[in-house]
Amino acid sequence: MPFSYERARRELLEELSKLQEQLERLEAAEYESVGYSNHIADDATDAFEQAVGVALQRKIEATLDEVKRALAKFEDGTYGLCEACGARIDRARLEVLPYAEYCLDCQSRQEHGGMRTVSR
Ligand SMILES: [Zn+2]
Repeated sequence: MPFSYERARRELLEELSKLQEQLERLEAAEYESVGYSNHIADDATDAFEQAVGVALQRKIEATLDEVKRALAKFEDGTYGLCEACGARIDRARLEVLPYAEYCLDCQSRQEHGGMRTVSR
C-alpha cells in the first residue's frame, strides 16, 4: 500500500488506542504493586519494577502526547509540515515516524543541541 496522509492518520489512530491500552494496563499493575509493597516494605525487586513501570509510563505518555498532537494537525491542515521551518516533511520519514514534528534537517540540528523551538 503506498504511503498517504490518510494511511498515516489511520496508523496514528491505531497507535493512540494501543498506547492508551498500554497505559491503562500499566496503571492497573502499578496499583497492585503499591498494595503489595505496603506489606513487604523492603522488597527491592518490587521497588525496581515500580521504577521501571514509572519510566515506561512516562515514555508512553510522551509518545501519546506526540500522537495526539500529530492527529490535531490533521484538523489544522498542518500535518506533515515541519514545526520549526514549515517545510514539508519527507514522506519516507513520515512513513517510519508518522508523528514526526520536524523535517530531517531540523531534527538533526536539534539532536546536536543547536536549536531550541519556542512552540510548545
Ligand atoms: Zn524543518
